[in-house]
Amino acid sequence: MSSRTRAIITQSRPDWQVQQAEAVTSPGELARLLGLDIADLAGTRRAEEEFSLRVPGSFVARMEPGNPHDPLLRQVMVSGEEMDSPARFGRDPLEESAATPVPGILHKYPGRALLMVTGACAVHCRYCFRRHFPYPEHTPAPGRLEQALEWLAGREDIVEVILSGGDPLTVTDRRLRELVERLAAIDHIRRLRIHSRSPVMIPERITPELVDLLGDARWQATLVVHANHARELVSPLDRGVAGLREAGVWTLNQAVLLAGVNDTLEAQQALSLGLFEHGILPYYLHQLDPVAGAAHFEVPDERARELHGQLRATLPGYLVPTLVRETPGESGKMQV
Ligand code: SF4
Repeated sequence: MSSRTRAIITQSRPDWQVQQAEAVTSPGELARLLGLDIADLAGTRRAEEEFSLRVPGSFVARMEPGNPHDPLLRQVMVSGEEMDSPARFGRDPLEESAATPVPGILHKYPGRALLMVTGACAVHCRYCFRRHFPYPEHTPAPGRLEQALEWLAGREDIVEVILSGGDPLTVTDRRLRELVERLAAIDHIRRLRIHSRSPVMIPERITPELVDLLGDARWQATLVVHANHARELVSPLDRGVAGLREAGVWTLNQAVLLAGVNDTLEAQQALSLGLFEHGILPYYLHQLDPVAGAAHFEVPDERARELHGQLRATLPGYLVPTLVRETPGESGKMQV
C-alpha cells in the first residue's frame, strides 16, 4: 500500500479500523517480525488452509521476540499440530448447527439468544470452537437479518440478546447502532450483551460512540471480553473500561484454559489481578471445547480442578472465575 493511500485511509477511518485492516495474515511475516524460524512449514501450510492466520500488529508487539513458546504467539500461530486431531475433536463440538431456529440466531439457553452479527474477527484464535463454523450461512445478509429480528420479536421469552459472531465489534459503530436500534424496538428484550475479543486485541475499539451506544438507558448492557494471559492487557483498555463503567456498563472476562498459555497458577493469578487492575471482573474460565485442530491446547480436567482450587486458595473470591464447560444439549454451562 502506498504511503498516500495509507494516509487517506488513516484520515478517513478511526484508528481501530486501520489496525484491524492492517493485521498480519501470513505465518512467515509473523515469524519474521519476531525473529523466528518456522520449523514445520509443510504442516503449517496445511493447517493454514483450514483456518487462516490473522493477528493485529499491536498484539504482535506484546509478544516476546525470539521466543517460539511465547504464550501470546501460541494462541495465534498456525501449527502443524493442528492436523493431528483425535476422533473426539469434531468440527461442530457444541452441536450448534442443531441450535439454529433461523439463520443468524443461536438459541441454546432459556431466556437468551445469540445474534450472529458477522463471521469476521480481529484475530484468529487457533483454539476457537467456531473455527469450522459455516459463517456465510449464518451472518445477516439483509433478508436474513429481517428473519432473525422477526424470530426475536415473536419470542417473548427471550429477554436477553447476545451479539456474537465472529466478533460483533469488528463492524462499525454506525452498523452496530442500526442493529441495536432495531433490537431496542422489541419490547421484551431488556438486556444486551456483547461478546468480543476486539477490545483486548485493539483497545482503541472502545470508542466514545460505543460507550454511548452501550450506556443507553434503554438497556442493561454488559461487555464480555476475552483475554487469556495477563500480557494481553495493555492501556488504553483500562481507560475504555472506565468509560464504560461510568456509563453503567459491566465489563467481564471469559478466558479459555490452554496448555502452554495459561495452565499455571502464576499465569492464572496474574490474569485475574491484571483484569481487576483494568476494571474487568474474571467471569468464566472455560475448559477447551473439543474442536478439530485444537487438541494440543487441552488441559486434563484433573489438572484444571487442581489449578482452580489453588486459585481459590490464594485469591479473594471475586477474582476467581468459575471453571466451566459447555456441553451440547445442556440448559447452561456446567461447572467442571
Ligand atoms: S475472537 Fe472469538 S470467535 Fe474469533 S477466532 Fe477468537 S475465539 Fe473465535
